[in-house]
Amino acid sequence: MDPALALAIFALGLAFGSFLNVCIYRLPRGISDIHPRSTCPNCKAAISFYDNIPLLSWLMLRGRCRDCQARISPRYLVVELLTGLLFLFCYAHFGLTLSLLKCCTFGFLLLGLIFTDAETQLLPDKLTLPGIALGVLFSLIIPVNDLVSQLLPGLVFLPPSTASWRLLSLLDSLAGAAVGASFIYGAGAIYLRARGVEGMGFGDVKLMAMVGAFLGIRLTIFVIFAASIAGSLFGLWTLATVWMKRTQRRMLRHHESAREARQRAWESAAIALRHLPIPFGVFLGGMAMIALFYGNRLLRWYWRWL
Ligand SMILES: [Zn+2]
Repeated sequence: MDPALALAIFALGLAFGSFLNVCIYRLPRGISDIHPRSTCPNCKAAISFYDNIPLLSWLMLRGRCRDCQARISPRYLVVELLTGLLFLFCYAHFGLTLSLLKCCTFGFLLLGLIFTDAETQLLPDKLTLPGIALGVLFSLIIPVNDLVSQLLPGLVFLPPSTASWRLLSLLDSLAGAAVGASFIYGAGAIYLRARGVEGMGFGDVKLMAMVGAFLGIRLTIFVIFAASIAGSLFGLWTLATVWMKRTQRRMLRHHESAREARQRAWESAAIALRHLPIPFGVFLGGMAMIALFYGNRLLRWYWRWL
């Protein structure tokens, strides 16, 4: 790893993170992500270029607007730093290769989607749809090397040529997108029946089509299972926290017996959980990020245990 190059890639990541912050704020609100200049959401004062330097400006202004002193979300700092680290990590992982470009692109889109979903429960088409197209395009340059590439040559004869691997890689990418999208579509329909509320929308379907286009079928299935486990743990943890808090409150305020308080609190916590919006896109995106770097290693480790 060349230290000067690593630093440059980190700085590039910070700049992209700064742009991503603009997208996270503007895309769900339907504002153009390029045209109007950045303004303070509170006092509408234009933000000058020297207050728009990644990391430094936020730290210098201590997370407040220069004009009206309104708080600026720490999300700005976090997203910039994470994008910088993501680019650096991709470089450490893939070196100066085309895979670095693919990794940074995919990670950039995932970070944007994770944070937009966490803040607004939306996964904007302006990130997912170009993401699907980019994933498919990258498969023509970098082999996805998934099930189709491994199984199809044993079934039909393909002359070993560049055109052949490109075709197989493209099929891998398209198959991944199809599996990811249909899996989430099906799961969403089941979820709606079981819980009576919409847990996954079309945003999640498009997100998983994008993940599938980049990662192929195997890792897409891994992402869905890992995200379901993470989402369920999040739900259980929330249920337990709410239950404990409400039990305590009932015992203190209403002087109920422990048994009665626990039971009443359980009933209300269960209702609260039903209406808790679980940001499933955050879990899917987070697991896709892990799969990007460690998915193949995790799958190998898993097969060994079977
Ligand atoms: Zn302001």
